[in-house]
Amino acid sequence: MSHQTNSPIPIAKPLMGAEEADAVREVIMSGWVTQGPQVRAFESEFAAYVGAQHAVAVSNCTTGLHLALKAVGVGAGDEVITASHSFIATANSVLYTGAKPVFADIDAGTYNITPATIAPLITPKTRAILVVHQVGMPADMVGIVALARQHNLPVVEDAACAIGSEILWNGQWEKIGKPHGDIAVFSFHPRKLISTGDGGMITTNNPEHDRVLRLWRQHGMSVNDAVRHASPQVIFEDYVEVGYNYRLTDLQAALGREQLKRLPALIARRRELAARYHELLGTVERLGLPVEPAYARSNWQTFLVRLPAHADQRAVMQAMLDVGISTRRGVMCAHREPAYRNVAWGCAGKAQGCACAPQTCQTLHESEAAQDRAIAIPLYPQMTYDDQDRVIAALRGALGS
Ligand SMILES: *Cc1c(COP(=O)(O)O)cnc(C)c1O
Repeated sequence: MSHQTNSPIPIAKPLMGAEEADAVREVIMSGWVTQGPQVRAFESEFAAYVGAQHAVAVSNCTTGLHLALKAVGVGAGDEVITASHSFIATANSVLYTGAKPVFADIDAGTYNITPATIAPLITPKTRAILVVHQVGMPADMVGIVALARQHNLPVVEDAACAIGSEILWNGQWEKIGKPHGDIAVFSFHPRKLISTGDGGMITTNNPEHDRVLRLWRQHGMSVNDAVRHASPQVIFEDYVEVGYNYRLTDLQAALGREQLKRLPALIARRRELAARYHELLGTVERLGLPVEPAYARSNWQTFLVRLPAHADQRAVMQAMLDVGISTRRGVMCAHREPAYRNVAWGCAGKAQGCACAPQTCQTLHESEAAQDRAIAIPLYPQMTYDDQDRVIAALRGALGS
C-alpha cells in the first residue's frame, strides 16, 4: 500500500521491449552495423508515415537542423528567425551555419512563434524561418508559410518533438513532416515519443535537398559505401564537397523501425491522457492549461501547465518531488543562457536599440514568462489513471487548492 502510493512517477518513460532487442540483435549478427539497409528501410517507412517524398536519417535532430539550414541556403552573415523559447539546439544549429539567430516571441497558449511575432523581424538579411513545433504542439504553419512565401523565404521545421502531430492543411489532417515548409527535422532522443537512443530524420519533397542532405551527412562522398559494397566493379569515390559524419547506424535504424510500429498506439494513449488532464485540471483556479488550436492535433510530447502568478515554481516542483512526482521547469530560453552572452543574436528590441537588463528581453516577454511559470507534469503511455490522479492531487496540494 505505502509502496503503491509512494512509488516515484517519472516525467517520461521510453517504451521498448523484446521486439526492439531482437531487431538490434539481428543487425549485430548480420555483420553490417553502420548506415546500410536498415537505414534505407527506416527512411522509406518514416517517409510513408509522415507522407513525405524523401526522408534522410541522421545522427540526431541537431545535426539534421544544421544540414537543413545549409540546404535552404543559410550561411555566414545571414539572419534566421526562430524561437529562443526552445531547447538550445534550435538556436545552436543557426550558429553552426555562421548565421545569426533572430528571436521571435511565442504565443502564451501554444508556446509557439506566430506570424505576428515573426513578421516584424523580417529584414533584407533574413534567409530562412526556423519554426519549432514546441513540445509537439504544431505551430500555425498555414500563417507562417503564407508569410514566408510573400517574402520568398524558405521554412525549416524543428519537429524534434512533433512526430505524429497533425495539422489541418487545405481541409485535410496531415502529419507534421509532410513537410509543410521546405524541410522538417525530427529527433529520436529518449525524451521524445520514439527513440533510437540518439537519432534524427529529415523530411523534404525537394529532390535537390534530398541529394545534398545525403551527400553532406556522409563526408561529401560521391559514392556511398552501400553502393561501393554492392558493386562488382572497383569504384574510387570522390569527396566533392566538405561534408560531415552525421550518419545514423543500422543498429539504431532497426530499433527505430520497431518503435515506429508502436507509434500510433502511443499517440492514441497520450491524447487520451492529455484529454483527461484537461478535464480534471480544468477546475484548478488560475492554472493555465496548454491550448490545442482548432487546426492542430498534438502528440502531447510534454504536458505543460502554467502556474498561477502567486505560486513559486521551484517550491511547487519540490513539493511534488517530495511525494515522488517528477516535474520539469518550462522550456528554456536560449537568450538567457551563459553561452549566449557573447553571441550576436537579434530580437525586435535590438533592431531598435535594445536596453534590456542581462538575461531579460522585453520583446521576448512571453518566452521568459513561459520558462518561469510553466512546469511539465508526467505524461507517458504506461501511466495509469491512478498515477495521473496522484499527479493531479500532488499539484493541487502544492498549489494549496
Ligand atoms: C530535443 C530537441 C532538439 C534536439 O534533438 P537531438 O536529437 O537531441 O539533437 C532540438 N529541438 C527541439 C525543440 C528539441 O526538443
